[in-house]
Amino acid sequence: MRGRQIWVETPIAHRVHWYAGSVALAGLLVFGVLLWTGDAPSERPTAFWVLAAGCILGELRPVRIFAREDLSETLSTTFAFALLLGFGVTPAVAVLAAGSLVADGVGRRGVLKSAFNVGQYTLALASAGFVILAISGSTVLMPTGRVDGGDLVALMAATGAFFLVNNVLISVVIAVAQGVTVIPLLRRQLAMQLLADGVLLGLAPVVLVVAEHSPALIPLLVVPIVAVHITTRVSLERQREALHDALTGLPNRTLFLDRVRETIRTRGPGVRAAVLLLDLDRFKDVNDTLGHHVGDELLRLIGPRLCGATDDEDVVARLGGDEFAVLVMDARDEVAARAAAMRLVESLADPIVVEDLLLHVEACVGIALLPDDGDDPNSLLQRADIALYVAKEERAKIVRYSAERDGHSRERLTLLGELRHAIDMDQLILHYQPVIELESRRCVAVEALVRWNHPVHGQLPPIEFIPIAERSGLIAPVTEFVLAAAIAQGAAWRASGVPLRIAVNVSMTNLLDLDLPRLIGRLLTDAAIPPDCLELEITESTLMSDPEQAMTVFEPLHEMGVKLAVDDFGTGYSSLAYLRQLPLSTLKIDKSFVGAAMVNENDLIIVRSILDLARNLGLEVIAEGVEDAATAAMLKSIGCRLAQGYHFGRPVPAEQLDALIQAPSVRSSESA
Ligand code: C2E
Ligand code: CA
Ligand code: CA
Repeated sequence: MRGRQIWVETPIAHRVHWYAGSVALAGLLVFGVLLWTGDAPSERPTAFWVLAAGCILGELRPVRIFAREDLSETLSTTFAFALLLGFGVTPAVAVLAAGSLVADGVGRRGVLKSAFNVGQYTLALASAGFVILAISGSTVLMPTGRVDGGDLVALMAATGAFFLVNNVLISVVIAVAQGVTVIPLLRRQLAMQLLADGVLLGLAPVVLVVAEHSPALIPLLVVPIVAVHITTRVSLERQREALHDALTGLPNRTLFLDRVRETIRTRGPGVRAAVLLLDLDRFKDVNDTLGHHVGDELLRLIGPRLCGATDDEDVVARLGGDEFAVLVMDARDEVAARAAAMRLVESLADPIVVEDLLLHVEACVGIALLPDDGDDPNSLLQRADIALYVAKEERAKIVRYSAERDGHSRERLTLLGELRHAIDMDQLILHYQPVIELESRRCVAVEALVRWNHPVHGQLPPIEFIPIAERSGLIAPVTEFVLAAAIAQGAAWRASGVPLRIAVNVSMTNLLDLDLPRLIGRLLTDAAIPPDCLELEITESTLMSDPEQAMTVFEPLHEMGVKLAVDDFGTGYSSLAYLRQLPLSTLKIDKSFVGAAMVNENDLIIVRSILDLARNLGLEVIAEGVEDAATAAMLKSIGCRLAQGYHFGRPVPAEQLDALIQAPSVRSSESA
């Protein structure tokens, strides 16, 4: 194998150049000495030229495996080694150097790279030649193209020498390029190459014998060599694939854990390092809105960014999805680990260009320190995962694992697992909170608010599980359940003569689902209730985070007749342009302003302004969080028509609401 894939321009390119130059120079010197003292040209021209032709052709036509340049192999090794056995070092080196230079010239590879290749081969062949000389006492082991039993020891030793020198030279260049320690890499490299090189070198004497006695058979011999060689290569590549992520080419979870294990083992008890787990924010949105091919390309481009932000000896891996792991070797303490995490986060600061789209990527990082937070690979990764989870939950960028929060987070993680089954097990239920018309005191609408009857923790409020559901993609089935249950309940009330409007809360993730309008359409048709009886609530901050996306889903819903409300209005930053543009019907004034409007002049001004704004835009207003009669009266006096809050009723199961909605005033207005 030749060191092809390693010629990259990195900050350590300098060291690589220095090393490659040294190998080239050493090779050149040895070559010079060989030419000076070398063997005379052979007396068996046919065999020589057949092997020389094979060697040069082998260089020119590398065997491509998986059509990848960095995995091409040259069969020239076999022929060059056959030349060495039959004709001595100098002819072998000369022919191989010629072939290599021609091939590198044709392939327009850099001068230094060519020089390194020639140097590497020269040194490997020369060392094999030296072993032959030392053991057999002559420079040519098979001068007559035959091998005697007595020569076998020299033959095997020479093969070993070539294999060893060749792979050491390559391993060092890879180690220098990747900034890793040579010995473990060399061990892997030798184990990996043993089979592949074994085939190429082991067949060299056979090729020599055939070239000597029946050169016409050489092409026939090449076929099985290539076949066996490709087979071993393919199996090696499979092995590689099993340890790498196909999309980014980065190490996968298995290899990452392996590297952590190796670090712990080789660096001994005093080792300090950090495992960082990085997760992209809202990556699912990219996949859902722009398509998986854009998502994939984005992930592919993130790999190099992360690698560029780490030290050469660190390990960057992709664990799956949008989750990356980094083993930071030089993390003495939390400060150093946080600095490394910050570099990762900042490496994503510049937008990433995918298919002419400028994508802004953000990420958060969980940190686990070795050995403080764990001393085996699995627990380190698990704890970094918990820290990452806390980071997401607290909307923090970088969080280090802490044992105190562990229990809590673990609970949350289990909750996430249980939420998957909660729907099927009928554990999610809806409560309804009345929306009251202040003038008539009638209940004109209800807001459906989900709860989870958890078998162990009791009834959980939405704040305990909706955020988890939003981050995990479980929000889709949760919302589907809420929509179906709320619409069914609406139909039941309607059947009993109470046509209430039902409000359902939706998340941004729901709006990214282009199937949402179709789902709602189907549910409304099945329940046979008019679409304007359903109102979807989306918080102002969510809406304004991506109004364009909201528009794509709002449009068809609006055309269908479904009503759309901005929830928690006043807490986000609305663009007036979008408020006009979006097909909205209602603004729900956030309870923080409503509750304080009685005592705080500024909040009263905000409530009044929202009422004015809504009037001008032709929107309905619901004041939320009305907790007492005074607030209700004040709202009525400043022209607010609808209100919701504990003063009128807390969210309760549908049966408990019946008393309120079936009240005489409701029925009388019904019949009116
Ligand atoms: P929200 O949409 O703003 O819902 C109103 C919340 O305010 C409800 O809390 C309700 O119980 C509470 N509330 C109502 N009146 C008063 C009052 O007078 N004073 C005070 N202090 N609070 C009042 P809940 O049911 O705990 O819901 C919390 C949030 O969870 C909701 O805020 C909503 O954003 C979210 N949520 C609830 N159900 C769903 C759902 O099915 N899907 C989604 N995506 N989110 C939901
Ligand atoms: Ca709401
Ligand atoms: Ca609200």
